[in-house]
Amino acid sequence: MPLPACPRCYKTEFEIAESDELRGGGYRTKVWFVQCSSCGAIVGVIDYFNLTHRIRELEAKVDKILDKV
Ligand SMILES: [Zn+2]
Repeated sequence: MPLPACPRCYKTEFEIAESDELRGGGYRTKVWFVQCSSCGAIVGVIDYFNLTHRIRELEAKVDKILDKV
């Protein structure tokens, strides 16, 4: 399987960076950009409030409550 590469410089290392507020569509939001570590080209966006992590936290709390019932 080929390594994912930056569409601008073709390097293969990426990092995440916090965005400023994005505006449009009638609302403002924050996101994490996935960007090329070399040239900074943005290649993806991740939800600012990591919902997977949050769901796992809530799942653990529900499990603790269920253990007490
Ligand atoms: Zn690049």
